[in-house]
Amino acid sequence: MKAVCVYCGSSNGAKPLYAEAARGFGRALVEAGLALVYGGGKVGLMGTIADAVMESGGRAIGVIPELLVNKEVGHNGLTELHVVPDMHQRKKMMADLSDAFVAMPGGAGTLEELFEVYTWAQLGYHQKPVALLNIDGYYDPLIAMLEHTVQEGFMRQTYFDILQVDSDPVGLIARLRGYQPPPKDKWADNRDAV
Ligand code: AMP
Repeated sequence: MKAVCVYCGSSNGAKPLYAEAARGFGRALVEAGLALVYGGGKVGLMGTIADAVMESGGRAIGVIPELLVNKEVGHNGLTELHVVPDMHQRKKMMADLSDAFVAMPGGAGTLEELFEVYTWAQLGYHQKPVALLNIDGYYDPLIAMLEHTVQEGFMRQTYFDILQVDSDPVGLIARLRGYQPPPKDKWADNRDAV
């Protein structure tokens, strides 16, 4: 594993502990010898984690669409900043450059990015780990919703289990390293089974 893609808020969130956690995860990535791949902005937790990686002597690679260079303030102090034509190319490039995906606290954009790579894993498009860094229980309601999808027969337990969850950055990196993808994709057995 060389690079970890981190999805996180373009805002800082309501509590200072979210930014502290972003700094902590940035430092943990550097200590683990891992590069950060992220959305390339300077704002919110995105900017905070990138600053932490750069200040700790690590590698931060940003991928930002042209439209957002000014809005999310493209970070000019990164190891690499790729400016791409649109969101689809942003997400594809971030995915291609990364060996694992982690969502930290964030809003709709973060959730969209998380669910894209999560569902790609379920369909067998990639075998890379997908994880939540669950700071201060931020993702507990989402985890409960996903458990509900399993209980109600809309998702198999196997695919729920793809999602790695930890509140500790070092523990999460260990989970990413030890991850074993499910042996079969969603449609391997038959088309009706959930
Ligand atoms: P947010 O969590 O809403 O603060 O957004 C975090 C990041 O997700 C920002 O860099 C947004 O540009 C990005 N984002 C928002 N919507 C999308 C989308 N539909 N596809 C990909 N990235 C998005």
